[in-house]
Amino acid sequence: MLNEWIAERGYQITFSRKKGRYFQGMMRLLADDLAVFRDPAFIKLFEDSALRKGKPYRFQELRARCQVRGDTAIRAFGDRFRQLIAQAVFLRGLQLACPACDLETWYALDQVRESIVCVGCRAPFPLPLEVDFVFRLNQLFLAGLNEGASSVLLTLDRLAPEEALLCLNLSRGGHVDEIDVIAWCDGRVIIAECKDHWQGDILPQLTRVHALSEQLGADQFVFATLAESIPFDLPGATLWKRSDLLTG
Ligand SMILES: [Zn+2]
Repeated sequence: MLNEWIAERGYQITFSRKKGRYFQGMMRLLADDLAVFRDPAFIKLFEDSALRKGKPYRFQELRARCQVRGDTAIRAFGDRFRQLIAQAVFLRGLQLACPACDLETWYALDQVRESIVCVGCRAPFPLPLEVDFVFRLNQLFLAGLNEGASSVLLTLDRLAPEEALLCLNLSRGGHVDEIDVIAWCDGRVIIAECKDHWQGDILPQLTRVHALSEQLGADQFVFATLAESIPFDLPGATLWKRSDLLTG
């Protein structure tokens, strides 16, 4: 539907950027249920820079990093975390140090045997008698998060479209523009520009995408961000800040 809508307006979808594939892969992992992004504890984890670099943590450490307190909240956090393990969003493993070369690294649970082969020097060493499980983010998930998946997926979740295309390059007359989200919702076409956070002046970029959205004849243009506040106005556009995205 959207492909034809775009073609009718004389634009060509030249290619969808790599990060669009990342985001779709993340949605597949989550079986299209994006509610986890609205969970204050998990969105905090997804924003954690160390976790986004692939650093493994023990469960207690993860819970402490997103300040989950109180019995009910702890139980809910645990339940959701188990679900994310089942979906392979978080991977369970062990952090082990090789006694021969001292390389300390993460081993996925399915690599763990009584005798481990060091991924560095390849020497075998015995599994320690006592060791805690540690969890890290799925590589696709962290690649997507680092490309700004959170604000894009929260926008999708809020729009609940019948159809959506992510991270497109649209070209016409040798000119190429980028669009984060184009969505078909109840017979309306909505174009969204999403930024987890930003530095510097993004108004010129937003104004450009907003103009493109009007040129295409979209019914609504949305700017969505995880920032707590949006320090500018964009006449004719809908602005969604963090609290708008997290309340769904
Ligand atoms: Zn080694």
